[in-house]
Amino acid sequence: MPLTDMPVAPDRCPCAPLAAPQGAARAGVREGWVHSIETGAAADGPGIRYVVFLSGCPLRCLYCHNPDTWHQRNGRLAAADEILSDIARYRGFLRAGRGGVTISGGEPLAQPRFTAALLRGCKALGLHTAMDTSGVAGNKADDAMLADVDLVLLDIKAFSEARYRRLTGAPLAPTLAFAHRLAAVGKPVWLRYVLVPGLTDDRREIEALAGFAAGLGNVERVDVLPFHKLGEYKWADSGRPYRLADVSPPSRELVDEVCGLFRSHGLRTA
Ligand code: SF4
Repeated sequence: MPLTDMPVAPDRCPCAPLAAPQGAARAGVREGWVHSIETGAAADGPGIRYVVFLSGCPLRCLYCHNPDTWHQRNGRLAAADEILSDIARYRGFLRAGRGGVTISGGEPLAQPRFTAALLRGCKALGLHTAMDTSGVAGNKADDAMLADVDLVLLDIKAFSEARYRRLTGAPLAPTLAFAHRLAAVGKPVWLRYVLVPGLTDDRREIEALAGFAAGLGNVERVDVLPFHKLGEYKWADSGRPYRLADVSPPSRELVDEVCGLFRSHGLRTA
């Protein structure tokens, strides 16, 4: 998840500026921890996205390129209405770009009520909404929140308990339970899978994941994301040992092969 703040031209529509919706107030949580904002993202959902990266994450993925989002207080405390007022400035731009707003992180479900407030406010603005989550805290997403999410970007980081724990430090079951729940309500999902040579490239496990995803019936596409080390310096900055320093990004051939495994189960890959 890129974290560079790339300002783009806000909505210059001659119409009167939009007031912030009152969704945050109704949802009861007016403040939350925000790491950063990207206003012209193209890889976090359909079209052009306004992405709110919240700080705080319960996982500790070995390949994380944003360890600076792990702790909530690495972000800044922001009012939901402040964020929504800014989003409102971009509404025309986002609509023209067939995009919307993505709540990402960190882990958005580490702040479920703040995330719900943002999603509610975005729906009040008539914008498409997406939530990028590992699903590890899927039980924090209540039905009202899910009703305000048009698309879930679900990161399933491994498909065996042992590998998932080794990779993230957490159990796999909550993510799979959340995937089943999203399927039960017919919520569209884009599955995300980070491909790390020697770590998440086990073909049999990927085959099993592809079969699982295909069986859900609500997975619209799969994004196979090649591992990279662009965030390695952040580990060094925080004094944490980076255990994947000797791992190289996957080859184009490996990425194509893994995409083919998902497609062989009838899934669409990006
Ligand atoms: S879920 Fe995302 S932010 Fe959290 S540790 Fe894993 S890669 Fe990093």
